[in-house]
Amino acid sequence: MKQYQNYINGQWMTSNSNEMTAVLNPATEETIAEVTSSNNEDVDKAVQAAKDAFSDWNSMGVDARLEYLEKLYEIIVANKQRIADTIVQELGASQSFSESGHVPQSVNEMRAMLDDVRDFSFEEKMDTALIQKEGFGVVACITPWNYPFNQIQRKITPALIAGNTVVVKPANDTPLSAILYAELIEEAGLPAGVFNVVTGSGSTVGDYLAGHEDVSVISFTGSTEVGRGLYDKASDQIKKLVLELGGKSAMIGLPGADKHKTVKQSVDTVLNNSGQTCAALTRLIIPEEEKAEYLDIIKKYYEENAQVGDPTDENTKVGPMVSEKQKETVMDYIQKGKEEGAKVFIGGNAIDGRGFFVEPTVFIDVDNKMTIAQEEIFGPVLAVLTYNTVEEAIEIANDSPYGLSGAVTGPNDEEALEVAKQIRSGNVYVNQGPRSPRVPFGGYKQSGLGREVGIYGIEDYLEIKSIMLPE
Ligand code: NAP
Ligand code: MG
Repeated sequence: MKQYQNYINGQWMTSNSNEMTAVLNPATEETIAEVTSSNNEDVDKAVQAAKDAFSDWNSMGVDARLEYLEKLYEIIVANKQRIADTIVQELGASQSFSESGHVPQSVNEMRAMLDDVRDFSFEEKMDTALIQKEGFGVVACITPWNYPFNQIQRKITPALIAGNTVVVKPANDTPLSAILYAELIEEAGLPAGVFNVVTGSGSTVGDYLAGHEDVSVISFTGSTEVGRGLYDKASDQIKKLVLELGGKSAMIGLPGADKHKTVKQSVDTVLNNSGQTCAALTRLIIPEEEKAEYLDIIKKYYEENAQVGDPTDENTKVGPMVSEKQKETVMDYIQKGKEEGAKVFIGGNAIDGRGFFVEPTVFIDVDNKMTIAQEEIFGPVLAVLTYNTVEEAIEIANDSPYGLSGAVTGPNDEEALEVAKQIRSGNVYVNQGPRSPRVPFGGYKQSGLGREVGIYGIEDYLEIKSIMLPE
């Protein structure tokens, strides 16, 4: 059994907790590795290492930092297969989605940031002043399990470029991607203490790390509930906070839109990654009078595309839920949907046997007030809602505590864009427009604070100093 330690100050360090946590493969329920269950002392060591490394790293200048990160980029590219395989093993994402989704996203987003930052001014003149932008200090990166490699990439690439040093606390369900990241960083030869990983549970070491007096920025991706707690925690020392939280995003099919494309776009987001995607288009909002045609298309799409099974099988689209707990959460929501009067159109059951599998599920006759339309399920569950007027469709889409993503399809781009502009969320797709790896990602309302990805993603990690010079 492989056992992994924390990566602190450029070294693999054993915790004096003497406790390990098993990492499960959610498709087989087998233990595939063990990681350290860290304690507060380990967090203290990691934060101290990051604090000690900050001054040199911050003052060496962006060009010198970029040299290290270019080296890291090359090593990540050379290790794409290892990264993909690790994600399949610990998360249960299908091999095909891990290779076509997870890994390219990480590589392309890192590349885009390394390129775009070369045109970014870390110093500029304004009247007689010199405006200087630099790192805050130590950034605590607390990350979820659903995109275990890229959620770390989205934080550490901008944080390190900006001159900060980092301590990463990955999700306990998927720590191996973070351990692999540390191995790649070790190979790239980043200075000791610039990047540190501490494994352990969120409610103990995650909480302690976020509140640590030497942490200047809390950068968190995860549930809105935990994010709210961190907002409170940050207030004590007025820490900078970056929050990427949950979503319950809407896909609106306007009258006369291409129904096949509308269904495919929405359904793919709830099948890929077993629906464990914060930006998934989980509410499909369609014209009441086109409902019958839509349902035929949905049924056929699921018959042809929703293969559940062993994620390493190349034909599998939907793997298991990440954990038994997540499977239970999804099944509780499905039960609630049934109780509140939505109708199961497809699926609706757990799958017995080994692995944390559930049937891809579609609810119809959903009212937007129902729990399954308001709360994030984080599983392969789609809610279909209908409308009579376009105003009503927009109202339904915006009637949500979240505002992370959204999509509109229409008979022409202008009409769809007009509706997209009225959606209160941080990302909206018009007629299957592609997403480039440099555009900002983040949420309105309770979906978060700040933006990740691309040049907008660096701003949250920069302090700004105005140096007034004599005339
Ligand atoms: P979570 O329970 O909020 O956990 C996220 C991270 O926070 C994990 O590392 C977790 O550690 C840690 N954590 C838990 N309690 C904590 C506390 N009291 N103090 C500090 N850290 C704590 O979320 P999840 O269940 O892993 O992920 C699913 C959620 O994340 C969904 O709601 C999803 O929408 C959201 N999400 C959002 C985005 C986005 O970009 N907007 C992306 C991905 C996911 P442990 O897991 O080890 O306990
Ligand atoms: Mg959790």
